[in-house]
Amino acid sequence: MTDLADKLTHPIFEVISDVSAKLNVETYVVGGFVRDLLLRRPCKDIDFVCVGSGIELAQAAARKIDPRVHVNFFKNFGTAHFNYEDYDLEFVGARKESYNRDSRKPIVEEGTLQDDQNRRDFTINAMAISLGKNNYGELLAPFNGLEDLDNGIIRTPLDPDITFSDDPLRMMRAIRFATQLNFYIEAKTLEAITRNKERIKIISQERITDELNKIILAKKPSTGFRLLEETGLLALILPEMQKLKGVETVDDKSHKDNFYHTLQVLDNITFSTNDLWLRWAAILHDIAKPVTKRFEDGVGWTFHGHEVVGSKWVPRIFKNMKLPLGPEMKFVQKMVYLHLRPIALTKEEISDSALRRLLFEAGDDIDSLMKLCEADITSKNKTKVNRYLQRFENVRQKLKDVEERDSIRNFQPPVSGELIMQTFGIGPSKEVGVIKDKIKEAILDGEIRNDYEEAHAMMLKLGAELGLTIAAK
Ligand code: ATP
Ligand code: MG
Repeated sequence: MTDLADKLTHPIFEVISDVSAKLNVETYVVGGFVRDLLLRRPCKDIDFVCVGSGIELAQAAARKIDPRVHVNFFKNFGTAHFNYEDYDLEFVGARKESYNRDSRKPIVEEGTLQDDQNRRDFTINAMAISLGKNNYGELLAPFNGLEDLDNGIIRTPLDPDITFSDDPLRMMRAIRFATQLNFYIEAKTLEAITRNKERIKIISQERITDELNKIILAKKPSTGFRLLEETGLLALILPEMQKLKGVETVDDKSHKDNFYHTLQVLDNITFSTNDLWLRWAAILHDIAKPVTKRFEDGVGWTFHGHEVVGSKWVPRIFKNMKLPLGPEMKFVQKMVYLHLRPIALTKEEISDSALRRLLFEAGDDIDSLMKLCEADITSKNKTKVNRYLQRFENVRQKLKDVEERDSIRNFQPPVSGELIMQTFGIGPSKEVGVIKDKIKEAILDGEIRNDYEEAHAMMLKLGAELGLTIAAK
């Protein structure tokens, strides 16, 4: 028997144990908390299952802790929940579930602890710790969950075909846990995912995307994407990415496999950012390569304009994935659009005007863009990688110099449209736009400095050229 009493250090467990004894119900800590406790991973969500009413248990526990604690409960589902310190405590009565084919919503009946463990997704998530007075701290792991945890195995407690067909979201969860915990999915379980992949269609996009984002935020997201690809789920949930896979050869010349390249870029960028959106930019940076691919005689494989087409696809992909369509999407779009620009800068003698233009377009996202470009170097040749990284370092330094001199990053035109209209006594018109634009171009090209004096002088000159006269004050 595994005794975990000394691991239940938080006083809440004693409270729940006392209250359960008073109500005469068996109560267990279950699921993710038990798994994470054994893995020594921090976990702020605690799930309690009792053989009886979860709502009554939650209310009695809350009263004992502090009568002011507010308990939320859902009578229909028999669940209750409250926050205590920074913990999220969830209570439910042990239940038995049965499913019909078109929905992942089960028909629920009261059940035993064993019934409750049977309905859980994986053996490592189906362990319970007793809070009973006579066996406090005892681990109940009916499906060898502890062994699977030690061996790093994801496996369903019952027949995996039934488990996945009942609730196909579990296929995403299997791959997500394999990625987050760096575990294997047992062969039978993995095969069942492949067989049941089409069932993913009954799951809401929000839930699928939620799991996918957890994969993307893991330490090594490529693990999850490889599994999604191997099982056939990727083609169903993110077909554009599936299409990156494959190599074509003409005249003995092959291009690289853009799927594996993208995975490498995604893994690379985890070292410089935890930002979900920059990681999404890594996923999508080459997304339009398959449709822009050409074989040109004497040149080889080209993907002209893939950054432009790719950035145009971003809104559609975000909409399909039910990802936010505001600034996050705009950011990803901008990263995809600009991802070749710093590379272009490393190839030529860098002019200040090219640097200014890049700063102007990237604005405050310039650092993210440089991270993406550095992650985009995926050569196997270490010397080559280091040489490229050195060149990027050089670009970074030069960008810094130009920024210090000209403050282009958050460029605001030194003469406003208002001032142009006032000076020449005109209303909003094409001329105002022309003057503003020429001043901006002159600053970016380094013909004039980014200050009021020089911009004002240029405005007067341009006005005269356009036949405008200075208005009387
Ligand atoms: P995380 O909190 O990191 O998402 P978790 O395992 O705690 O991981 P939750 O969604 O919080 O996941 O669920 C808590 C527990 O409920 C799980 O450990 C598992 O036992 C059970 N569970 C959750 N979702 C499902 C599901 N779709 N099918 C079966 N059991 C599930
Ligand atoms: Mg949880």
